[in-house]
Amino acid sequence: MAVNEQRATRLEDYGRTSRSPSETRKTRHAARTEPAPPRPALVKAALVVVGVGLGATVAQTFTAETASQFSAAGGAAIFAGNLTGLAGTYLALVMVLLVSRIPFVERVLGQDGLLRWHRSIAPWPLSLLIAHALFITVGYAQAARSGIWHQVGVLVTQYPYMLLATIALGLMCLIGIVSVRAVRRRLRRETWWLIHLYMYLALALSFAHVIALGPSFVGHPLTQVLWSAAWLGTAGLVICYRFGLPVVRSFRHRLHVVEVRKEGPDVASIIIGGRDLDRLAVSGGQFFCWRFLTRNMWWQAHPYSISALPRAPYLRLTVKRVGDHSAALARLKPGTPVAVEGPYGAFTKHAQRQPRALLVAGGIGVTALRSLLEDLPRASAPVVILRATREEDLVLRDEIGELVKQRRGRLHELVGSRDRVRLDERLLLRLVPDLHKRDLFVCGPEGFVTELVAMAKNLRVPDECIHHEAFAL
Ligand SMILES: Cc1cc2nc3c(=O)[nH]c(=O)nc-3n(C[C@H](O)[C@H](O)[C@H](O)COP(=O)(O)OP(=O)(O)OC[C@H]3O[C@@H](n4cnc5c(N)ncnc54)[C@H](O)[C@@H]3O)c2cc1C
Repeated sequence: MAVNEQRATRLEDYGRTSRSPSETRKTRHAARTEPAPPRPALVKAALVVVGVGLGATVAQTFTAETASQFSAAGGAAIFAGNLTGLAGTYLALVMVLLVSRIPFVERVLGQDGLLRWHRSIAPWPLSLLIAHALFITVGYAQAARSGIWHQVGVLVTQYPYMLLATIALGLMCLIGIVSVRAVRRRLRRETWWLIHLYMYLALALSFAHVIALGPSFVGHPLTQVLWSAAWLGTAGLVICYRFGLPVVRSFRHRLHVVEVRKEGPDVASIIIGGRDLDRLAVSGGQFFCWRFLTRNMWWQAHPYSISALPRAPYLRLTVKRVGDHSAALARLKPGTPVAVEGPYGAFTKHAQRQPRALLVAGGIGVTALRSLLEDLPRASAPVVILRATREEDLVLRDEIGELVKQRRGRLHELVGSRDRVRLDERLLLRLVPDLHKRDLFVCGPEGFVTELVAMAKNLRVPDECIHHEAFAL
């Protein structure tokens, strides 16, 4: 009974930045486990390993080819096919590694960085693998002095594992097509995501033909072992970090919905309860991919930032209704079990380079900003700018006001339509005259974040002092 009373009191107080006398009297808070700081040196070392791997893969193609093979009919095309095939498959593995959420990479690059890398590498493996299929078909047709279409039939039906490899390439092309911005915009995110998962299947289907037919592998047991080890290692990392760790973490903390609080029109906070939440190493500004285990929602995980630091036994996210998933969260029943992947993101105090900070939030971007602010040292004298179209959209404003006061900072609320209230360079400098002595943290919808980052760069804020989290894919 006493325990229940204590819980109820704490639940009321959770999210408040100054503790109520009752809470201070009754509750002793365990020290939170802090996440390890990011280690850029490790990521640089990993980049070197990836670069060396690519060099070795390319070199392997050259050593597997003799001069007479190259000058025979079709030899040049087959060589180009082998080169593009191996390089393309290698880069596809790197792409899988990039999204496998390896913690030390995640902590340095964050969601925005990983997506940027993913997007810039993505066209390469697909283009190289299409080129591989074309070169090999042309080369084999030239060598056999047959027509291209006849050769396609021969390759697919008579060569081992080639049918599987052809299906794999088809799947990769499908993923490429749905990833084009114009197509992606027309698809539901869930459909897009499910199609994206076929990449794992495509890679698995293509594996055997590489080992069975690739000149770098046939009769070369050492390269077979090394290549297989690279694939198994990648699969192991994906299984560990994308599936194993989230399952273990979710079981360990036994997360469940405790309460849904209305914060404003279309915005609700979901208070999550759980065991040992003081041991959940999460920084302010980070996010989890949340899976609410109801009949209709268990199969989809969406990213939402924490809007307050965990205080055992609670954790909080705050969500604006924009579509099916976010709307359904406002109707969650207490007791609903929750699974999480994460925490993810580099939008944290660890990114700070200067002693002072400027925090800017557009709309619902205020969630990540609120927890980041709570995590900043009291000496950071933050300037906080909240941008919203309507007064009632300024959710969590009281909590932010209190946190700013505790840190002797300044809060500016810019409310109104974009035409009427424009956060341009002049206004930014007027509100923050010492802009160059601060780190800029900006969070919100993609357009807002892009605009602000461009503005800061224009005003010569150094790149390493600009940190952003866009609430978009
Ligand atoms: C790192 C990060 C942190 C976020 N934190 C918050 C937060 O604290 N509070 C909040 O209200 N929103 C947050 N979002 C946005 C939130 O994930 C989407 O609004 C939500 O997933 C929309 O799902 P839906 O089914 O309701 O809407 P949909 O109709 O599916 O989509 C509406 C819009 O949201 C985008 N979206 C949909 N699903 C996702 C997804 N899984 N990842 C990214 N974008 C998506 C779509 O591209 C579309 O533009 C965050 C997004 C990211 C990437």
